[in-house]
Amino acid sequence: MIKKVTHVFMVILILISFLGANLRAKGNNPTTREMNFLCWQEFQELVPAKIQTVLLPVGSLEPHGVIPNGTDSLAPEAMAKAIAERVNALIAPTLNYGVTPAMKAFPGAVSIRPEAYQPFVEDILSNLADNGFRNIIILNGHGGNTQWLQELVRQVANRKKVRMMVVNWWSLADKITKEVFKENGGHAGNNETAYMQAVYPQHIHPERYSQEMVSLLAPAESYYPVPVPSSILIYEEGQGYPTFDEKQARLYFQKVNDLVAKLILETIHIWDLAGVYSK
Ligand SMILES: [Zn+2]
Repeated sequence: MIKKVTHVFMVILILISFLGANLRAKGNNPTTREMNFLCWQEFQELVPAKIQTVLLPVGSLEPHGVIPNGTDSLAPEAMAKAIAERVNALIAPTLNYGVTPAMKAFPGAVSIRPEAYQPFVEDILSNLADNGFRNIIILNGHGGNTQWLQELVRQVANRKKVRMMVVNWWSLADKITKEVFKENGGHAGNNETAYMQAVYPQHIHPERYSQEMVSLLAPAESYYPVPVPSSILIYEEGQGYPTFDEKQARLYFQKVNDLVAKLILETIHIWDLAGVYSK
């Protein structure tokens, strides 16, 4: 009897120490990865001692065929949430507005002038550096922002001596688009529609879709209509139409996120090896 009691006692002890270790491990994780939800005290404990990377989702408010006008910011925001733990990063509040003069004519669109956009983003980036982040990764969802963002990271990275990267996910994921859909993509085409369908299936409207509304994105420098005649712009003739396929959507979402996470981890690793702006 005594032996049995000792056994039970020991099992309980082991369980308690196991649970304790588990709780301690959990205690090391931040209560949230979103800067919006952190209090300043916890932020101070985390950055830079435990977390040196921040993800900043940026996008635009503009038409996207039959998917949300906010797709360009909702997609990188979902991406940030999906990969933040894997890349040990915090997530800065999303920048929902961008530079989109060619689509401003569509209902619900808002376009910011580059001369207002650039200094605003510059201050956000500088402040993130001031807050102790070493790696500032912009997850961009909108092509109209790219040139302004790239110019900014060249300036701010060197001025603040931090590492910065702009990730244009739809371009980076080109290979995955061709792998999953067996063809090229488009603005609000198969690729963006699938990515959004994986996260917000309730806001996808195939019942409003017809192939007529699709047009070919003008090949570089060949012609330039403003407003663009269609918000679904395929990159190649006859390819890139939305598929609205749930299974493809889930697969695409996961593969794109894996690729972006891998790029960020590898880039930070190589920055570390080179020792550039490491302190
Ligand atoms: Zn888009």
